[in-house]
Amino acid sequence: MSDYLPISFEDRMGLVEFRVGERAHIGVDGDSCGGCSTKACVVACPANLFVPTSDGGILFNYEQCFECGTCYMVCNTEGAITWTYPDGGHGVVFRRS
Ligand code: SF4
Ligand code: SF4
Repeated sequence: MSDYLPISFEDRMGLVEFRVGERAHIGVDGDSCGGCSTKACVVACPANLFVPTSDGGILFNYEQCFECGTCYMVCNTEGAITWTYPDGGHGVVFRRS
């Protein structure tokens, strides 16, 4: 039996606050992604921030990032993802409600 409440992705995201910084703390190199056959980041990112495009590329938006590091761990193309934490005072703020 699961201990998790039946809550939708949208409702779950609504429980999280993001203090969005001006600098993108994660960069994705579109040229590297074009040759990637797995697109592992798409299924691995818990915030659904990687979206495959019809031409084989990737759209990425850093603004609702949980800073979990999963995308960096699963990507097997060297240099495709540049990962840093957001600047001080910015980024995800987890809260209970
Ligand atoms: S970020 Fe990595 S896993 Fe995702 S599409 Fe680009 S190369 Fe592939
Ligand atoms: S750090 Fe986590 S939430 Fe942020 S883009 Fe990567 S996988 Fe998604």
